[in-house]
Amino acid sequence: ELKFRDPARARELAQALEREVKAIGRSPVNVMHVCGSHEQAIARFGLRAAFPRDLSVIMGPGCPVCVTDTPEVDEAVALAAMGARVCTYGDMLKLPGAQKSLGDAQADGGKVEVVYSVSQAVEVAKRHPLEQVVFFASGFETTAVATAAVLLAGVPDNFSVLSSHKYVPAAMEVVSAMPETHIEGYIAAGHAAIITGWEIFVPFARKTGAPVVVAGFEPLDVLAALVKLVELIKERRPEVANMYPRCVTREGNQPAQEKLWKVFQTTTGDWRGIARVPSGNLDLRPEWAHVDARKRFRIDTSLVGGKVENELAKQCLCGDIMSGLKNPHDCKLFGKECRPDSPVGACMVSSEGACRIWHQYGGIP
Ligand code: SF4
Repeated sequence: ELKFRDPARARELAQALEREVKAIGRSPVNVMHVCGSHEQAIARFGLRAAFPRDLSVIMGPGCPVCVTDTPEVDEAVALAAMGARVCTYGDMLKLPGAQKSLGDAQADGGKVEVVYSVSQAVEVAKRHPLEQVVFFASGFETTAVATAAVLLAGVPDNFSVLSSHKYVPAAMEVVSAMPETHIEGYIAAGHAAIITGWEIFVPFARKTGAPVVVAGFEPLDVLAALVKLVELIKERRPEVANMYPRCVTREGNQPAQEKLWKVFQTTTGDWRGIARVPSGNLDLRPEWAHVDARKRFRIDTSLVGGKVENELAKQCLCGDIMSGLKNPHDCKLFGKECRPDSPVGACMVSSEGACRIWHQYGGIP
């Protein structure tokens, strides 16, 4: 691990990055990464201070909790109100619905349990055989593989899944088509690419004219990936480069992909604050209706949903931040009304959200 944190090598890479950005001769050069773990690495190691001034490294829609849409939270809150035991990841608890979060539902006496894995949710179902246990599943394709594997292995009759899994390549397409963003290249998440393989980005790079570099999560991984990306932008080569070859292959983990597509299919879905994303959601396939909470229960969100009354929430810039148009410091509420202990918007809720990360480590204004 240490060899990926060597300060001397980091300085060399930072200098190379400076040179490459200068050689492009424009300012700013906008690049986007689509992964909360990359933002964490950038913030934690203070890498932004090493980025050239003319390079703008934007965090895109890389936080699955942040893009879970309000009606999806309302469905989970409604299920809890209907008496189901709702299991979900800890980050999902404070995520605001139209009126309530799952944390509020729990405070109201709803059965809401935090789990660390889908298998743990299955254990909860086994422990409560007389209750309906619903796993509110969030996360990108990498996490969806775990949900798929558990379903394929067999689950008890009282277990179902409320899927808010999302599919990242689809959102990259949408963000790249936004005329205001002007993203010239992308850093793709190494852990997702372990599953999908790097080749999946080739049609995207060709279609959008923007190169994609697959990167790992150590400081040198991020810096080396940025040097490569800026080089590709400079040379106008809309290609895919794999800068994480110690883990990522061209074709990825095929057995995992088979599991994923046996259980899930892509559908159009709303990503909170960003857009309606064609093929952006991962829903259970029709043959899995018996474990699909949406098919199995009549979820009446009118009991818990409704209009967003919260005046503060209307000022939240999460959507613009995840589309690359703003950064957390552009938000008047940042660190004041909106803090990790009292989040107003989704980007402050999750440990992978840009606002939460900048609040924890400090960003560059
Ligand atoms: Fe939204 Fe809070 Fe971030 Fe502002 S600081 S954009 S309110 S999450």
